[in-house]
Amino acid sequence: MKVTADIIAIGSELLTPHRTDTNSLWLTDRLNSIGIEVMQKTVVGDDELRLDHAIRDSLARSELIISTGGLGPTEDDITRKIFARVLGRQLKLDYEVLEGIRERFASRGYQMPPNNERQALVPAGASVLPNPNGTAPGLMIRHEGKLLVILPGPPREMRPMFDSQIMPELETASRGVRIARRVLKVTGLGESALDEIIAPIYREYSNPSTTILFTNSEIEVHLTASGESLARAESLVSELSDKLAEKAGAYLYSTTGESIEEVIGRGLAMKRYTLATAESCTGGLIAQRITEVPGASEYFLGSVVSYAESVKVGLLGVSKELLERRGAVSGEVAEAMARGVKQVTGATIGVSVTGVAGPGGGTVSIPVGTVYIGLSDDVITSNRRLTLFGDRQLIRWRASQAALDMIRRRYLA
Ligand code: ATP
Repeated sequence: MKVTADIIAIGSELLTPHRTDTNSLWLTDRLNSIGIEVMQKTVVGDDELRLDHAIRDSLARSELIISTGGLGPTEDDITRKIFARVLGRQLKLDYEVLEGIRERFASRGYQMPPNNERQALVPAGASVLPNPNGTAPGLMIRHEGKLLVILPGPPREMRPMFDSQIMPELETASRGVRIARRVLKVTGLGESALDEIIAPIYREYSNPSTTILFTNSEIEVHLTASGESLARAESLVSELSDKLAEKAGAYLYSTTGESIEEVIGRGLAMKRYTLATAESCTGGLIAQRITEVPGASEYFLGSVVSYAESVKVGLLGVSKELLERRGAVSGEVAEAMARGVKQVTGATIGVSVTGVAGPGGGTVSIPVGTVYIGLSDDVITSNRRLTLFGDRQLIRWRASQAALDMIRRRYLA
């Protein structure tokens, strides 16, 4: 049976810029993994009327309603009261729960403050979900064919309670539906350009569903299929993934969700190539990204952050005359930097970046966003000029991405 869910995150702090509702993301991931789709999630402050509306709204929509937060001992923790009211159930003091809370305080050498008594109020007919990591127990209520799960807000309390006490129950309820996912990653192409290429294909499918996410310099295509068995779901997702991969061609760098740094790392290690970078406007960003992958020492030798001309000349052997004649932001200097770092380190491949990240420093012939990438190996040294858009941060990031993608396409495709 296909089960749908609503999530209600309760807490006024979640409506401020200081706290993010991460509980619903975590819960959505768990629910999706067993084929339960989240219909809507709501963030609501500690406000009785709004919470009342949110619960009624969710009940009208979904079979499963999960709330987090607002189970604390203070007056503004209203979750218990409002759920009981909406469901028309009386709140009763549960002496066993009360004793448990008292014992928890006693075991730490404290006396339970009277306020905490509130946390032992249980709506009639609800089951109590023990909370091993906090004082507020959760609640589970079956109501007119719906299941309501009420959990505390702190993630370290909520997560283990959900995994051990709720997941097994939900797995049984959603039996028969299994989910398979695939994440395709594309770079070097804009979002609309990619969509133009792949939309005619994915639009033909409602299962798998397709979601496209754009990040700073790459696009993720998320495919999610449901089937009566995992094998069926996997085969549905594979069929569409193969078709989309064929269309995306060389722009596609992973069908398994790997990062471009991982793809490059695996490729270089397999071919036993080594890499070194000479970075000007990216200031070591490429090296940083490459070395985020564990085991990068197998293929990455090092980087020279050659920001100043003196370093380009002194450490990389770029000729002073060339710098004067062509300028630091030029294809020739990019090539000389790549060649230089290859020579200095003895790497198989030298890659370089020189450009204008802005906001200042641009000219008519070399505007902000102009970036040259150099590549040098035993056979050939070449460069490519790019015009990148965005602020300083984005231009630097996109330059690093372009350099990584050039390595992938030239040596590992
Ligand atoms: P407790 O009695 O243990 O405090 P509670 O159910 O009353 O539990 P809240 O007071 O609502 O929980 O929230 C406590 C803290 O938990 C918040 O300050 C916040 O750090 C975290 N928290 C609450 N809701 C969320 C959420 N949706 N996502 C991430 N963190 C949350």
